[in-house]
Amino acid sequence: MLRPDLLLQPTPKGLYCPPGDFYLDPVRGAVDRAVISHGHSDHARGGHGKVLAHPDTLAIMACRYGASFAKATQALDYGEPVSINGVTVWLSPAGHILGSAQVVLDYKGLRMVFTGDYKRRFDPTCASFEPVTNTHVLISEATFGLPVFRHPDTGREIERLLHSLATFPERTHCVGAYSLGKAQRVIRHLRLAGHDAPIYIHSSLEKLCAHYQSVGIDLGVLVTVPAGEQAKAAREACRGQVVVAPPGSFEGKWAQNFPDPVIAFASGWMSIKQRAKQRGVELPLVISDHADWDELTRTVQEVNPSQLWVTYGREDALVRWAELEGRRARPLRLVGYDEEVS
Ligand SMILES: [Zn+2]
Repeated sequence: MLRPDLLLQPTPKGLYCPPGDFYLDPVRGAVDRAVISHGHSDHARGGHGKVLAHPDTLAIMACRYGASFAKATQALDYGEPVSINGVTVWLSPAGHILGSAQVVLDYKGLRMVFTGDYKRRFDPTCASFEPVTNTHVLISEATFGLPVFRHPDTGREIERLLHSLATFPERTHCVGAYSLGKAQRVIRHLRLAGHDAPIYIHSSLEKLCAHYQSVGIDLGVLVTVPAGEQAKAAREACRGQVVVAPPGSFEGKWAQNFPDPVIAFASGWMSIKQRAKQRGVELPLVISDHADWDELTRTVQEVNPSQLWVTYGREDALVRWAELEGRRARPLRLVGYDEEVS
């Protein structure tokens, strides 16, 4: 069988496939051909020649970078194989955000699976993670790759938000959530928990929320918080309501200017009290779009690869764990990864 490092190699531009002549999630400069796992900016950059991705990822990239984000695009649904210079490529759902995919490479009897970012717990805004069997090399992310990271039940975190809303009906609940994926997921979870009041959103969330609604993910009534002159009166209307905004808007006064705000933040990092405190978060919500330690290790055991390559985040602990399990494992140390997108 082919040596795995002949099919995929870590390079400064990202993981490169020599026989297929393409990159997986290249983030340093433009390349001729890229296969992209999902739309987060630390995986999907504009300006490449040809881009192959799930149709939802292509649509998200067009939302963010404009329709001409690549010279050519090719949409690939989950489970649909395509040949690139003799390398068979197909996508399996990653459960991370809408359109997110694991990238599977089959070549000369060797199967390598790149998870991209993934999680295993329920997300009402995207297809659930599907483990790929008969995999020789699993390339796993490790954002939360330490045994200390064990994310709580998402429904419980949403209940905490709703409980706070009921307890403080005069206060504006400002929820910081990353603009792609997390924001829509928090909104959809609130709807599933029975919260049917309008939800106020920062204007930078408008386009992506509209895209999610257009593919059938019901986010209910969303009201964009106006800027400028009308802002003060409009903000008064947010008392006792939920406002969802991207993390950047919490760095200035945007969130603090709402009447009597409760600053909440939805992120896997909220399990670290120090991080919540640094951000001035009163209500930390531990809601992550990445696998926690148990999900990471369970996935390796389920997929049962003969080799584990680890990338993005805390690589060493997962590598060590895999070695103790009797597997070959290596850290990849790819650059350009942003752990805040979690
Ligand atoms: Zn991501």
